[in-house]
Amino acid sequence: MSVKRAVAQVVGWIGGLCLLGALLFFAVQQFNLAGPARNILLDVAGIAPSPVEDPCLQNNVAGAIVARIDYNDAEALHTLFEQVDVWHVDPEQLNAVALVSPAQQQWLTDGGFPFSEETERTADLPNPCAFQTLADNNAIPGYACYRTVTKTHSDLESLAEQYPDLAELNDIGNSWYKIRTWGLAGFDIQALVLTNRQSTDFEKGELVVMAAQHPREMATAEVATRFADMLLEGYGTDPDLTWLLDYNRIHIIPQANPDGRTWVEQGYLWRKNTNSTNGCEFPRSGVDLNRNGSFLWNHCQGCSSSDICSVFYRGESAASEPETRAIEAYLSTVFADQRGEGYNDPAPEDTNGVFISLHSYGRLLFYPWEHSSTPAPNQDELRRLGRKLGYFPDYRVCNPELCMYRFDGSTTDYAYGTLGVASYTYELGTAFFQSCSYFDESILDPILESLVYAAKAARRPYQLPAGPDVTDAVADPARVPIGMAVTLSATADDTRSAGSGSDTEPSQPISAARFSIDAPSWLATTFETLQPLDGDYDSSLESLTGALDTTGLQPGAYTIFLEAQDSDGNWGPPTALSIEVVAPATERTPIQHKLYLPRVWH
Ligand SMILES: [Zn+2]
Repeated sequence: MSVKRAVAQVVGWIGGLCLLGALLFFAVQQFNLAGPARNILLDVAGIAPSPVEDPCLQNNVAGAIVARIDYNDAEALHTLFEQVDVWHVDPEQLNAVALVSPAQQQWLTDGGFPFSEETERTADLPNPCAFQTLADNNAIPGYACYRTVTKTHSDLESLAEQYPDLAELNDIGNSWYKIRTWGLAGFDIQALVLTNRQSTDFEKGELVVMAAQHPREMATAEVATRFADMLLEGYGTDPDLTWLLDYNRIHIIPQANPDGRTWVEQGYLWRKNTNSTNGCEFPRSGVDLNRNGSFLWNHCQGCSSSDICSVFYRGESAASEPETRAIEAYLSTVFADQRGEGYNDPAPEDTNGVFISLHSYGRLLFYPWEHSSTPAPNQDELRRLGRKLGYFPDYRVCNPELCMYRFDGSTTDYAYGTLGVASYTYELGTAFFQSCSYFDESILDPILESLVYAAKAARRPYQLPAGPDVTDAVADPARVPIGMAVTLSATADDTRSAGSGSDTEPSQPISAARFSIDAPSWLATTFETLQPLDGDYDSSLESLTGALDTTGLQPGAYTIFLEAQDSDGNWGPPTALSIEVVAPATERTPIQHKLYLPRVWH
């Protein structure tokens, strides 16, 4: 055998092996274990113990109660943070709601912390015996309205396939299990990006909605997924949702901590990620991803925990966890860095971008800083948009130190502090394991309305919320032959803000209103004026009327953007409606002119 031939043979073997390896790698990547098989794999790999056979014993709440605990001062609260699973804090009443085991009840008594059981919350704890079926189901057992991670991700894929011109699914990083099992278990972290992908030649507003960073806060992932459903279903039929996707990019990350969520699907009250290498035993292992962020990580006393078993464990170092790194890297790609390096540098007035982190619970909405009640450099603007967002669900809008407690290493502080974008944490509803009836009746619709407003403001979050909203926009008739006028009517409203007493946003009288055709005001070249129905602009709530002349328009559908200005000179975000202009009537298709007579002539 010649040397040449031998070399060729060796090269052939290597090539074959490489091909085999690549195929094997590809096959593994396509294969993702779920349910009992996954748990066995995690057990064999020494990552997590296989849950005991009796599901009634596998939960981490056996024998625990939910208690309301009184404390005296911030130091005592920090002691509670280190010792028990604190769910919620009322700093005005100086009490905390927490999950406490029998041993912890003794510790509270010995430590002089008076407490009483919240019997309804104890009764609402997930019943581990109900979790007979594992994570390959479509919904969390006992909570039919909440999709599992697997179902969420397959639904996101379906949306991307169904709406290729509007939706794109991005894999933005791997979960901890995925890295530790070479892809056999665990997940990609997925971001669904919604926008009209044909329209690219102008600046789009950027909105990121992230959910379920704390997996046991069950309602959050579903709200985010339903937001995607609503936007895609409404595109082309609802003119207001249509322009939101034409002129913005909306990024939805429904499952920011998918590994942790799979333990919730099996009955655990899981808050952290699933990193089991820091020394604490399952199921108390993991890192709190909303304390692990790289902006001012481990910054203030009592703002996060160094205790590896604490529910607030901040991790070994800033952004030590793969989920944290994936989210931060993605946010840094979506948003330009618009804030200076200094702690007190404000982001500019024309900053583009809104970030929303959905958590629960408390019916609260936090604006930065989350690590301090020292006013953030853009506090007035941040609070102003926060109050607009809080209007729809009627949530209290506040700095977290003043209405719950302060914390460091959060994603919201990262998004504002590092990138300068308007950033918020929602605390949805009244419980972690929110009933589906409360979710349907009191969370879903008002939060979707709030997210729609966030999208409307995303391009200029520090400017647009200063102006009035336009509501109840109607075109009459909505379908008209060329040359006939359309009457537009709407309401301009400068009063839609959350808050009460001295805690409210001031409102101003409406001073002007206008509309543009087929382009929002920042891209339009011509405007028409709307008038106050009562003849005078003298109120912060005005009925508007105007006439749209269709002479010279070609047949087709048109989007009309309406906006209003307050007496401080601030224009608010637009509200859109659509009209259809048709060719003049022919004898074959007579138009009943009586029906189309406009009500107002100018
Ligand atoms: Zn949370």
